[in-house]
Amino acid sequence: MANIVVVGAGLAGLRTVQALRAKGYGGALTLVGAETHEPYDRPPLSKAVLAGEADVSAYPVDWEQLRCALLLGRRAESLTLHDDRPGGTVRTTHGPLDFDRLAIATGATPIRLPGAGAQHVIRTLDDARSLQPSLRPGVRVVIVGAGFIGAEVATVAAGKGCRVTVVEAADAPLAGALGPQIGALTAAWYAEAGVELRCGVKVAWVDSGGLTLVGGDVVPADVVIAAVGVRPEVGWLVGSGLEIERGLVVDGAMRTTRPEVVAVGDCTAWWSRRYGRRLLAEHWTLAMNAPEVAAATLLGVDAVYDAPPYFWSDQFGRTVQYAGHHHAAERVVLRGSPDGPGWAALWLSGARLEAVLTVDRPRDLVQGRRLIDAGTEVDVDLIADPDVMLRHALRARA
Ligand SMILES: Cc1cc2nc3c(=O)[nH]c(=O)nc-3n(C[C@H](O)[C@H](O)[C@H](O)COP(=O)(O)OP(=O)(O)OC[C@H]3O[C@@H](n4cnc5c(N)ncnc54)[C@H](O)[C@@H]3O)c2cc1C
Repeated sequence: MANIVVVGAGLAGLRTVQALRAKGYGGALTLVGAETHEPYDRPPLSKAVLAGEADVSAYPVDWEQLRCALLLGRRAESLTLHDDRPGGTVRTTHGPLDFDRLAIATGATPIRLPGAGAQHVIRTLDDARSLQPSLRPGVRVVIVGAGFIGAEVATVAAGKGCRVTVVEAADAPLAGALGPQIGALTAAWYAEAGVELRCGVKVAWVDSGGLTLVGGDVVPADVVIAAVGVRPEVGWLVGSGLEIERGLVVDGAMRTTRPEVVAVGDCTAWWSRRYGRRLLAEHWTLAMNAPEVAAATLLGVDAVYDAPPYFWSDQFGRTVQYAGHHHAAERVVLRGSPDGPGWAALWLSGARLEAVLTVDRPRDLVQGRRLIDAGTEVDVDLIADPDVMLRHALRARA
């Protein structure tokens, strides 16, 4: 009988087992996860869960009906693939698991700062539960990293009455994701919330009193939170023969260099046909939707994942959304004033919209995403006018 093992019981792993059954796979199915919790949603961890306004509950899944063996608290430690036939063995902390087809969905792990002092990260439910009680009025909280997670955690900590400082190595918040020019437009949000933002500051190490910066300055802290990004969780695959290039390398069908092994979600560096390059997108939507393609591939059905990346973030009372990919864009145009209640940034190549960032303008996001997806050419003067709907800002045909 066919025997599929899925490693990693997060969103991408869960969606893969669900998609396999939905597509008619009738063989044995096992989902293995290192955490002791059933699969749950991560985005609320740095928002409502950290604020103590909600706890995360597992996705509602009837495992018996799904005919899926769920093995929790069990970490995959290595992978051996047969040389002479498809399949192999995953060695785990609780013994080996043989498979003839495999899906890898081990997500990503937060990067920690050097030094012996205590530091929090926020990736898992246990991380959020351990940090949450420390966020009390007057507590000095220092967050390293002004990316999306750092900004969300700063929002919550400031809302709890903590004295919050965010230190960032780049010259602006969100510079890595949006570029320094657009990222800088969010700097005022920190001051508004009473959060001290220090950019261009590099941390040397964490010690018992807080942070020591490169150059020797000290930033005292009661609580240090590292929000400096993640690494795809692929260390256990070293030596397996699968290609790793920061993430686990897969094509647009989510197939690795072995046809019977797929990978999906935050652990992958996936080939985007649309952008002609590999992407490492640490976004919920990829983990939600790409498993459909991974499951089809495992079942021998042709499928390609080619959606423009999309993510959202709730920070400083604003909803920030981004769709597309602007690495090759020629210029960026603002739509509305960053001092106003809502605005957007639009990245363009010629008259083609490559990416859109919206701040409290959800309609722009929906319409922009459609234009990006369809490759429709826009009228560059009209799109800069916030009173013209994006879907009406099309380039007149010659
Ligand atoms: C705090 C937080 C807030 C976020 N907010 C947003 C947001 O607002 N918008 C957005 O678009 N995205 C957001 N994201 C990103 C989004 O949640 C992730 O992209 C998504 O969870 C990735 O799913 P995944 O299944 O690929 O990986 P994960 O969710 O990381 O799941 C991987 C699972 O595999 C397990 N695992 C790892 N190694 C092994 C091993 N060797 N053996 C067995 N199991 C293993 C892990 O323990 C984990 O449970 C957020 C992420 C975090 C952490």
